[in-house]
Amino acid sequence: DPEMKDFVPLYASFESFYTRNMYNRIQDVFNRPVCSVPGATIDIVERKFSNSGWTSEYTGKVLKNVINLGSYNYLGFAENEGTCTEAAIVTAKKYGAGVCSSRQEIGNQDIHMKLEQTMADYLDVEACIIFGMGYATNSTNIPCLVDKSCLILSDGLNHASLVLGCRLSGATIRVFKHNDMEDLERKLSDGVVYGQPRTHRPWKKILIIVEGVYSMEGSIVNLPGVLALKKKYKAYLYLDEAHSIGALGDHGRGVTEYFGIHASEVDIMMGTFTKSFGAAGGYIAGNRALVEHLRAHSHSACYATSMSPPVCQQILTSLSIISGTEEGRNRIKQLAKNSKTFRQGLKKIGYIVYGNDDSPVVPTMIYLPCKIGAYGREMLQRGFAVVVVGFPATPIVESRVRFCMSAALTDEQIEKALKAAEDVARVLKLDYSADKS
Ligand code: PMP
Repeated sequence: DPEMKDFVPLYASFESFYTRNMYNRIQDVFNRPVCSVPGATIDIVERKFSNSGWTSEYTGKVLKNVINLGSYNYLGFAENEGTCTEAAIVTAKKYGAGVCSSRQEIGNQDIHMKLEQTMADYLDVEACIIFGMGYATNSTNIPCLVDKSCLILSDGLNHASLVLGCRLSGATIRVFKHNDMEDLERKLSDGVVYGQPRTHRPWKKILIIVEGVYSMEGSIVNLPGVLALKKKYKAYLYLDEAHSIGALGDHGRGVTEYFGIHASEVDIMMGTFTKSFGAAGGYIAGNRALVEHLRAHSHSACYATSMSPPVCQQILTSLSIISGTEEGRNRIKQLAKNSKTFRQGLKKIGYIVYGNDDSPVVPTMIYLPCKIGAYGREMLQRGFAVVVVGFPATPIVESRVRFCMSAALTDEQIEKALKAAEDVARVLKLDYSADKS
C-alpha cells in the first residue's frame, strides 16, 4: 500500500536487533504459564514444539510439582494455606478485593493505617507509608524528594524502577561503580560537573541511592561504607530493601539489622512486600516529616488506588509471624541455611557463583548467551523451574541462571537440585575453569 510507505508502526521502536534475533532464540524458557501458587513447587503448562522451536501455543499438558528455584518466595509465605491465607480470606469477605479509590479520597482504610503503624514499629522508625506497587514506590517517590537543583548518586546496578525514578526527578544523575566506595567518594568529591571544576557545592541536596541485596548479583550493599560517605559529604541516603527485608538479619529487619545499624541512620527506608511477605506493594519508612510529605505529594499516594485489602492482610499476618514468633525466626534461619548449602554445593560442583554467601539470590554463571535457553529446558526436564537471565539484564557474555532460595525448600529438594545442576553442567559442557579446559 503506497499510502503506508512511510508509516511507522506503533511498536516499531521495540523491533531491535536483539528482540528479533536474540530474544526470539531464548524465549522458549519463558512464556510457560504457571497454574499454581508460586510455592516450593509449581505446576506449569507446557508449550508446543515445532520444527522451528518452541511455539507460543500450549499443549494443555501440565507439568506437576516442578521444584521452584526461581520465585522470590524467600520466607515461604507464598503458599495458599495456613494462617496468612485464612486471614486474607476473612479480609476479602469483609472488605472485598479492591478499594476503588485512592488514599486521599475514600480509599484510606483502617487496615492500611494498621499496616503502616506495624511496619514503622517493626523497623523502629517514626512512620511508614504503603503503596500498591513496589515499582511505582520507587519511580513516583524519588521525584518527590529531589529535582533539577539536586544531584543523585546511583549504584550502577540499581533496579529499573529506581532508574526511572531518578530520570523522572530531573536531577543530575551520576552513576557509581557497583558497591565501589572509592568510586562513590570520587563522584561525591571530585566536583567536576559538565567539565567545570567545582568551586562551591552547587546542589541543594545530594541523594545516594542503593539497594540492600542486588537481584542480579546477589551482592550485599556496603552499608557502613555508604553511611560514612553520606555523613562526610552531607548527603541523604535512599535504601531499597526489596530483596533484603525479611531475608537478612536475625529478625528479618533487613540490611540495617545485618550490619547492626539502626534504621533511623538511613533517611529513606524503601522496600517491597512482593518477596519475603508473599504479597504485593511497597513502602517507605523514615521520619514523620518525610512520610507526611510523601503522603501529600507522591503521585502514588494521590492518584493511585490504594492497596488491595486481602493483600494488606497477607502482609500483616506474615509480618506478625516474622516479627513475633519462633516460627518466623525459624523461617529466617532456614532461608540462611538453604542459601549457604546451595551456594557451597554449586561451588563444589565447579560453578562460578556471584555475590555474598548470606544472599538468598544465587546468580550462577553460564556466560554464553547461547546456552541459557538449553539450561532452563534441561533443568525443567529434570523437574526444576529456574530463571535464566541474559542481555539486556546482564552484560551479553555474563549470561546466568538466577536461582532464588526459599525457606520452603526442604534439605532433600536442595540436594536434588544440586544433583540436577551437576548433571546439566556436564550435559551442556559448562566447564569454564582455566585448568581443565
Ligand atoms: N526494587 C527492586 C530492587 C526490585 O528488585 C524490584 C522488583 N523485583 C522492585 C523494586 C519493584 O518491586 P515490585 O516487583 O514489588 O513492583
